[in-house]
Amino acid sequence: MAFKHIADLGDLTGKIAVVRVDLNVPMVDGVVTDDTRLEAVKPTVDAIAAKGGRSVLLAHFGRPKGQVVPEMSLKPVVPALAKVLGREVGFAELGDTLPDTDVVVMENTRFFPGEEKNDVELAKRFAALGDIYVNDAFSCAHRAHASTEAIAHLMPSVAGETMGAELEALEKALGAPVRPVVAVVGGAKVSTKLDVLHNLVAKVDHLIIGGGMANTFLYAEGIDVGASLCEKDLKDTALKIIEEAKAAGCKVHIPSDVVVAKEFKANAAHEVKPATAVAADEMILDAGPKSVAELIGVLEGAKTLVWNGPLGAFELTPFDAATVALAKAAGKLTDEGKLLSVAGGGDTVAALAHAGVKDSFTHISTAGGAFLEWMEGKALPGVVALG
Ligand code: ADP
Ligand code: MG
Repeated sequence: MAFKHIADLGDLTGKIAVVRVDLNVPMVDGVVTDDTRLEAVKPTVDAIAAKGGRSVLLAHFGRPKGQVVPEMSLKPVVPALAKVLGREVGFAELGDTLPDTDVVVMENTRFFPGEEKNDVELAKRFAALGDIYVNDAFSCAHRAHASTEAIAHLMPSVAGETMGAELEALEKALGAPVRPVVAVVGGAKVSTKLDVLHNLVAKVDHLIIGGGMANTFLYAEGIDVGASLCEKDLKDTALKIIEEAKAAGCKVHIPSDVVVAKEFKANAAHEVKPATAVAADEMILDAGPKSVAELIGVLEGAKTLVWNGPLGAFELTPFDAATVALAKAAGKLTDEGKLLSVAGGGDTVAALAHAGVKDSFTHISTAGGAFLEWMEGKALPGVVALG
């Protein structure tokens, strides 16, 4: 997908860039508790400043649903952002005269009912704030909103630095990947990731299915999964995915041995057994060591990895073992330059952090919904509008 970057713009002296960013940061009692998303804003603001321009930032916070909800004001984010950016940051509401600072944060875009309706009139008011539009919020790109989609049709539009880097990393992983490509899809439920599975079987060489999803696939193959999380009504869908994979030459990996327990809690009494030997009162909570060894072998023969969803109930020790072992193997292969590894998803990012491999992976996307829709092969409206 071709789009322009800030580097493609000319001199911006005296100009204002209207920049859509992600400021949906975790906040406790009006204090920002994690700077990750604020740090992601810096490269774009710096690039605009280097060309002589100023940045007016558009962002949403929480879900005020088109109404002014004072607790969801973006104003408390200003001091934390100023600190991270090392610049003076002002604050304004639509209609105010903009303060004369390098950077201005505009009030929550979702205070306007037109934002989530992709309303052109609201987009015009956003566009009137400046001269060019920069979208740097990949995490919001799967939504066609006034500040992510409509506005891009009203003025010259480019991708921001963080969004550009993210799209480039994702393109390398599934757009034109070096083969063999391995996808790991895990997590709780098949039903939330059906579109991902359908898209991936056509694109990847190996599909590793883990977590609660694997139970549904075991069940579909006629294996009794006891008291495990399992979506029995998706049996035919699971079989169809296996058929599609076969037809496309994609090898599907489902655990052959599993870790079972009778309680869903940390340090519950547990046992490793073949996936075919689960008792009626047992739950599968992780993949077993034999499966993990096989999966590490698959990674060792691969060049590209795309990962969404843990292999087990990783929040509960020791049911994090398979996820941690595979994550460490992927991190090591990436460090050695043998593997390009991309991962995303709320719990997946937490699991990879828990395994201590966040810095080893080639790219980790913190965009939950947008990352999944990208894995589903869907066009993201916020990206398409930049083209
Ligand atoms: P992501 O947020 O990365 O997309 P998901 O939300 O789909 O991932 O899945 C994560 C959840 O799946 C975790 O809360 C984990 O405990 C759960 N899970 C994984 N394996 C199992 C299992 N075998 N049984 C029950 N829950 C599981
Ligand atoms: Mg999740």
